[in-house]
Amino acid sequence: MLTYFCSMTNTDISEFFSALSKLMDLHGEDSFKSKSYSIAAYTIDQLEANLADMDDATLRSSKGIGASTAAKIREILDTGKLMQLEEIMHRTPSGVLDIMHIKGLGPKKVRTIWQEMGIESVGELEYACHENRLAAFKGFGQKTQEAVLQNIAFIRNSQGFQLWASAEATAHNWIARLKQSFAQYQFLLTGAFYRQMETVAAIEIVSNMPADTLPRLWANAPGIEMSHEGNTMLLKMSDNIPIRFYFADKEKVAITQFRNACSETFLTAFEAEYIFPEKAINEADIFKANHLQFIPAPMRESAEILEKSKANVLPTPIELSDIKGIIHSHSKWSDGQETLETMVQHAISKGLQYLVISDHSQAAYYANGLSPDRVAAQQIEIDALNQKYAPFKIFKSIEADILNDGSLDYDHSALSTFDLVIASVHSNLKMTQEKAMQRLLSAIQNPFTTILGHPTGRLLLSREGYPIDHKMIIEACSDYDVVIEINAHPRRLDLDWQWVEYAMSKGVLLSINPDAHSLAGFDDIYYGCKIAQKAGLTATQNLSSFSLVEMEKFVESKKRKRNLQPL
Ligand SMILES: [Zn+2]
Ligand SMILES: [Zn+2]
Repeated sequence: MLTYFCSMTNTDISEFFSALSKLMDLHGEDSFKSKSYSIAAYTIDQLEANLADMDDATLRSSKGIGASTAAKIREILDTGKLMQLEEIMHRTPSGVLDIMHIKGLGPKKVRTIWQEMGIESVGELEYACHENRLAAFKGFGQKTQEAVLQNIAFIRNSQGFQLWASAEATAHNWIARLKQSFAQYQFLLTGAFYRQMETVAAIEIVSNMPADTLPRLWANAPGIEMSHEGNTMLLKMSDNIPIRFYFADKEKVAITQFRNACSETFLTAFEAEYIFPEKAINEADIFKANHLQFIPAPMRESAEILEKSKANVLPTPIELSDIKGIIHSHSKWSDGQETLETMVQHAISKGLQYLVISDHSQAAYYANGLSPDRVAAQQIEIDALNQKYAPFKIFKSIEADILNDGSLDYDHSALSTFDLVIASVHSNLKMTQEKAMQRLLSAIQNPFTTILGHPTGRLLLSREGYPIDHKMIIEACSDYDVVIEINAHPRRLDLDWQWVEYAMSKGVLLSINPDAHSLAGFDDIYYGCKIAQKAGLTATQNLSSFSLVEMEKFVESKKRKRNLQPL
């Protein structure tokens, strides 16, 4: 326990204060005090030094931290709790605490819902919305009601899910441990994890071991909840993703793996036209028996892919080794952790040929965005590094904010100094589809835009993207020769893989970009490749697979085209 409390970060501590402030507002208590807790939460989160490492005297003398806040911080660090928060939570129905997690509903609105409408759970609130009662209540209206319903649906859908990247280590550890303990049996991954979905609800494993071996072993294991029925077993652990097992005879293991690995649409289409052989050693045998080209699990999504397999025209999906450069990365110049030179050295050590450095633009003041003067200074440094590290090349770029009116964040003379411009939305994310489209389309039409960054701004499992008409965006990118990013951060994976094939069909280049803010961030290209494989993205249709020579040609041709256009 001790190590747990000691490892508490400033953000963890800040959350205690923020929760206390919100609950005081919910209960309509001393608004002056609640405000001071909210300020304390902000101050703590912004502190550079780690509170957990401070003694009492340093704590009290920290900027913006008074004696009473210091005492509360000490209490949190020593006990892992804050009594005042415990007490107020005790007085709040748990369903009301759940309602507070719905985005867009501040404590005061939740207070009205609870105290005046008598609603004490998310389910009741959802029902009230369906009856149009929230819209009719004073201070709410139709728009809020719609947003609430949408957010409830979002929370429901994300509950119990994990990012693919967070489940990966667990999946591989389980397989390794099982193989080690039961060397005589097969253990194969299947399900959504095997299909490389961006989020997964369970790790699914097929085995030919007798169906009652594992259930007997784990019947009374502490901390594990087990349900076992026929040939399946589900293990639920308090602190990790559930594991689902399918047990099958030796001849049926591969078929069971296949059945549980495909999407429903794919499986239905497969079963309508093809057969399962009597015996299959592996999944390849199933395809062979039907004279089909092997379809890797991640691609088993649509019925159309079966047609391609039948015609022997499946694309060869991109591999990590096809990535030749890092596109979209942030250095210390804005909100990245490393100097440019360290990033260059790291890219070289990974065998990459170039780095597109795209720090934040001036509007992103929260991320230390670059003023035109700082852009010029950075470009001097880039020129020097390019001399020092040739033939490795740093391309001059920027992640330019798409401003509220759809324009980019610099004037033309500043924009013309970049080799590439990544245009992204970072502000006013809450917008209608109409507004989002207007902003994105103007950015796409801007002759300086090379790449459209994270097109929907979504954060998987925590924030829905702003609504866009994907088809229209892709078609505009095709018309204006703009590349669409597949942001490889495992929480973004945006453009969604389901739109990649359409983009390719319109001749739009995609680009798997790590949006790295640290050296470790480079490695996210792995997740970008995993998700792009689902859509059958090929190396030739991915900008970050271009060699240095190809990339230089690409940059030059973009510049030439731009110079021919009237600005
Ligand atoms: Zn961004
Ligand atoms: Zn970025």
